[in-house]
Order: sequence, then structure tokens, then C-alpha cells
Amino acid sequence: MVDVLVIGGGLAGWRAAEAAVKAGASVTLIANGTGNSPDIHAINVPVRADDSIELFIDDTLKSGGGACEPELVETLCRESVKLLDEFPFDRGADGSYKTIQPLGCSVPRCVSIDHKIGAWALAKIKRELSGKVSVIQARVTKIIQNCSLFTIHYSRGDDDASASARSVVIATGGWCGKYDFSDNPPELRGDGIALAQSLGAAVRDLDAVQYEPTVALAPTRLRGIPVITTMLHEGATFRNRLGEEFLPDKYANKDAISRAIFAEIEAGRGVGGGSGAEPPVDVGIWYDATGVPRAILETRYADTVQRYAACGVDITREPMLVAPAPHTSLGGVVIDASCRVLRPDGTPIPGLFAAGEVTGGVHGRNRLGGNAGTEVLVFGRIAGRASVLASRKNPGMEAAYFAFK
Ligand SMILES: Cc1cc2nc3c(=O)[nH]c(=O)nc-3n(C[C@H](O)[C@H](O)[C@H](O)COP(=O)(O)OP(=O)(O)OC[C@H]3O[C@@H](n4cnc5c(N)ncnc54)[C@H](O)[C@@H]3O)c2cc1C
Repeated sequence: MVDVLVIGGGLAGWRAAEAAVKAGASVTLIANGTGNSPDIHAINVPVRADDSIELFIDDTLKSGGGACEPELVETLCRESVKLLDEFPFDRGADGSYKTIQPLGCSVPRCVSIDHKIGAWALAKIKRELSGKVSVIQARVTKIIQNCSLFTIHYSRGDDDASASARSVVIATGGWCGKYDFSDNPPELRGDGIALAQSLGAAVRDLDAVQYEPTVALAPTRLRGIPVITTMLHEGATFRNRLGEEFLPDKYANKDAISRAIFAEIEAGRGVGGGSGAEPPVDVGIWYDATGVPRAILETRYADTVQRYAACGVDITREPMLVAPAPHTSLGGVVIDASCRVLRPDGTPIPGLFAAGEVTGGVHGRNRLGGNAGTEVLVFGRIAGRASVLASRKNPGMEAAYFAFK
């Protein structure tokens, strides 16, 4: 029996484990993969003089199309600035933070560490927690709650086993791994939503999926790997089969850009689809970065340049074949700002918490680029801390904590 059992080995899960260990809890983490978190390139934190927490809140609510849960957005944006004390984000020679402008943000807001904040943060947390968390590589298949204890059943292929815990944090990511053409790994199939529902959780926006507008269709080795959209701010554009430029508003959000690309393909001006299949498959458009100054491509986008060069494609001279693909699921388990999982009547399920892409409400129906990374760092930590309080079974203390929150 442990105090806290975390399901999921992405950043939301590891942040929860980190916070729980720091609060003195015994922790087990079960995961069947690494999820999307190692791919997080940059995250949103308002650091510039022309930015503010209020503008960050405003951008997030606007992007969500009226479907965000304001309390969660407020928590996301206000807590984000605390990350500045924890992470040595990259700075320029003048000491100011290096930022890039994701789609939908009204000012540059994305910060990172060597363009790999996800992998960097995971490595740091795992190093610090080495020997302090019991890690099981397995797929959780069932959770049973009996009085205030949880029994978690998991499978490692032929070998099924179970563990028990006083609190559970569900951090199993989204469901975009279920689609044929996606940039997510196949283990991300929405298990956590089903597990939470089996315990009575409310869910929301299960039809809301964000497409990444520019995911590589070819060459084969790169199929399913997203190509960064911020190049649109540096001179990149889209071209159709006829070579015509059709750049939608380059400050539009990912959703609007994906729709514009699909409209071009539906109008018969897509590129590819030569297999004769009906309806045509593998039709995309050209993402043309040849207009981006070479020096910028080779510094800011060195990863992309090198990845394509390794497949014989020089993106400083030729365009990339891309198409929109399911990238982030936006709906999920309903939580409050303390990451407590809520029932349809709004009451919390005692001892059950969730954080990260498995939850709904933070992004509404369209996620601001860079907000998922901020979400997992902020809410993973909140879930870990809250789960420890719940596991200590001191109702007075727990009630006071959540009332204060
Ligand atoms: C290619 C790519 C690039 C991205 N870049 C950015 C970016 O730059 N900035 C940004 O803000 N967002 C980005 N995102 C979105 C972001 O990566 C995700 O939203 C975020 O990583 C979700 O983190 P998570 O911890 O909730 O889930 P994940 O990191 O996906 O982890 C989920 C974990 O749950 C485990 N799991 C699932 N089901 C089970 C089960 N039944 N039993 C046990 N374990 C289970 C998985 O194996 C995995 O360990 C990107 C997404 C992709 C696909």
C-alpha cells in the first residue's frame, strides 16, 4: 500500500510524483510508455514587458472559443510564472528570456531550455526522484475504489497484478494515438478517461481534438513527425499543387490553419494521393520554408533542417509535404483547480485526482500552442500535492486545504 499511485509517465505524472515525494508521501508510478511529453519543445510563460498574466488569460480564453473553464485558465496562467523560479529557461546575451510566438498568442510567449523543455524536465525529475519512486512498466486496466482505498489492476502482457493506494493521480495523456495518421504514440488511447468514468467521473468535450496543421506525410521515415508552425512567422508559407501560395492569416490559431489546409485539399488542389485509393489518402500541401532566411533556419530550426537533410531533403531549397493530423485531445476528465476529479453533480470523488491531457476544460475547443506544456507542469504539481493531503486521511486538514485553494 502506498500513499499515492500515479498512472502515467509523461510530465503530468512525473510532476505529480515529484510533488508527492517532496510532501513526504510514498509513491508508485505505473506507465506503459513515455507519452508525448518528451516532444514538448516550448511552453508559455508571460515573461516579456509587453506581456502579462491578464493577456495570457485573455489569449487562452479567446483561443478556447468560449469553452474553457475560467477557473482552470486562471490557475494555469497565474501559476505559470512560478515556473521561472524552478527552470533555467534560455536567455539572450542581454539577459532577457528567449521567446517565440506560438500560433494564437498575441505576443511571443514560448520559453524553453535548448528547444527541449519536455525532455529536459523529465530527465531532471527522474534524476532527482531516482530510488524514491517505485516505477512499474505496465498498462493499468482497471481501478476499484472500496471505501477510501484504491486497488489498481495492471497488465504486463502475460503477467497481471494489482497495487493498492490511498490516492490516485490519473495522468494518462490523451487519445490521439488511436488515429491512423497522428503524431502521437499508439499507447495514448484515452484509457485514463475510461478508468475515471468507471469510478463515476464526469467527462467533457470528448469530440474536441486539435489537429497539428503541419505533420510530415513524406519522406516515409518522417511520416507522423510534426514540423514546427512558428516558421510561418519567419517567412514560411503554404503552397498548393499548382504552386500557388495560400497562407491563411499567419497569426491564426492551429485550428484555423488546419481548416484552411483541409479546404484547399477538398477543392482538389492538394498534393499527392497518387495511389488511386478512393477517397484519396496521403494528400497534403507544401510547407515551403525556402523564404525563411537561411541563418534563421540553421539556428532556430536546426533540428528540422537536420532531420530532413538526413532523408535527403534540403528544406532551405525545397518544400516539405505535410498534412494536418490529430495532435492533442482537448476534452477529458472534469477536474477543479485542485485537480480533484468531479462527478457529474460537481462533487469530488475522494482521493481521485487527474492532470494533463487526460483532463478537459483548460483549453476549451482549441489549445493555444505552448499551453499544454505549461498545463502539465502546473497541474501535475497541484495534483501531486493535493493527492498527498487526501492520502493522509485527515478530513479537517483536507477540507481546510481545499477551502483555502
Ligand atoms: C509531437 C508533439 C509535440 C508537442 N510539442 C508541444 C510543445 O512544444 N508545447 C506544448 O505546450 N505542447 C506540446 N505538445 C502537447 C504535449 O506534448 C502534451 O499535451 C503533453 O505532453 C501531455 O502530457 P501528459 O503528461 O498529460 O501526457 P503524456 O506525456 O502523453 O503521457 C501519458 C502517459 O500515460 C501513459 N499511459 C496511458 N495509458 C496508460 C495506461 N492505461 N496505463 C499506464 N500508463 C498509461 C503513457 O504511456 C504515458 O506515459 C506536443 C505534442 C506532440 C504530439
